[in-house]
Amino acid sequence: MKDYSSKAVHVGIPRGHAEPLGIPIYPAAAYQFDELDIAADEFQQNSGYSYIRMQNMTNKALEERLSSLEGADATVVMASGQAATMAAFLSTCKAGDHIVASSAVFGGTAGLLNNVLPNLGITSTIVDNNPEAARAAMRENTRLLWVETVSNPNGDVADLKGWADLAHEHGALFCVDNTLAGVGYLCRPFEHGADMIMHSLTKWAGGHGSALAGCIMVKHGSNIDNIPVLQDLKAQYGDQALSRKVRSIGVHQLGMTLSPFNAFMIAQGLETLELRMLKECDNALQIARFLKDHPRVKSVNYSGLETSPFHALGQKYLKNGFGAVMSFEVEDPQRFFASLKMIRMVANLGDTRTLCIHPWTTTHGRLTEAGKQAAGVTPYLIRMTVGVESLQDIIADLEGAL
Ligand SMILES: *Cc1c(COP(=O)(O)O)cnc(C)c1O
Repeated sequence: MKDYSSKAVHVGIPRGHAEPLGIPIYPAAAYQFDELDIAADEFQQNSGYSYIRMQNMTNKALEERLSSLEGADATVVMASGQAATMAAFLSTCKAGDHIVASSAVFGGTAGLLNNVLPNLGITSTIVDNNPEAARAAMRENTRLLWVETVSNPNGDVADLKGWADLAHEHGALFCVDNTLAGVGYLCRPFEHGADMIMHSLTKWAGGHGSALAGCIMVKHGSNIDNIPVLQDLKAQYGDQALSRKVRSIGVHQLGMTLSPFNAFMIAQGLETLELRMLKECDNALQIARFLKDHPRVKSVNYSGLETSPFHALGQKYLKNGFGAVMSFEVEDPQRFFASLKMIRMVANLGDTRTLCIHPWTTTHGRLTEAGKQAAGVTPYLIRMTVGVESLQDIIADLEGAL
């Protein structure tokens, strides 16, 4: 199987007589050993099945499916996107190390960088969303660069190759939060130099908005000579040290393991990701054009519009569409939300339903005014994640609310 659509529905499902045609849910907390040597080896290597926190058959099937869709060598699923982000930070940095991140990152990511990591002695610099701004922030102890392929709320597209080159020039690693690009469907950051990819699987991977999950993906072969926290595992595992570290920190030690029930839910969602994204991207482009021409809309942010400052980067890095997220400014957000009939006010992304939110007072409400400005959030801004409903119904609802 070469193609996305085939892998999405086949990888992870066992083959053979009387095997189930689906991914079974294994809730068992532990696995049996039949020989003492095997048990001892398992506890030394932590490579197979012993206890649910370490590995689980449902989670493993999901990891295989995710790796095949994103072109990863290893995937570690975790209980949430936040858990995965924290595991990525702690797998590459220790006290005294430094991270450079784009200002166009998810609020929870900024929260970890600003409020949690400093207590562990890990510092960070948040810069404008371009590699030149990042270059000025690089230090000798910078170990990790972090961006989002497509950012929220404004759908800015990152210059992935530029960030990757900068990281590698300095012996640092480059991690991309690829959530808004939908598990390798719109963009495959490993092809542009990423060393690690993070996903909130709660969003497009699931699609149903009914299961919390996240993952870190790794491509083996990254240069990790300059990453102190990886040196012990490098001696033992060579270029698999990074993926080993992510699994060790994320699930073995911190226990941020994904529930097998949620793993099943995400695996089901992946089977229709392509179909959902196709419709959502198609809807989104038509809606962005409708909003751009609407007299009551002050501005629209969507890289699919030729007038967008991110159009060229979108064309370079995004295939199959420009994504399902956009933002726009209205005259009176209060009245806009009060007048919506079908579209719901919800903070999630990547749902099958079209959802709108007011970032100024909700998702970005805790930021300072300067922080909101840096994230491109104004009091008039509406963020929208476009769903799979009919284009006519979505536009009629927006028209009425405007
Ligand atoms: C939702 C989200 C996260 C956090 O993921 P959770 O699954 O909610 O913990 C991280 N990054 C992006 C871009 C997100 O949309």
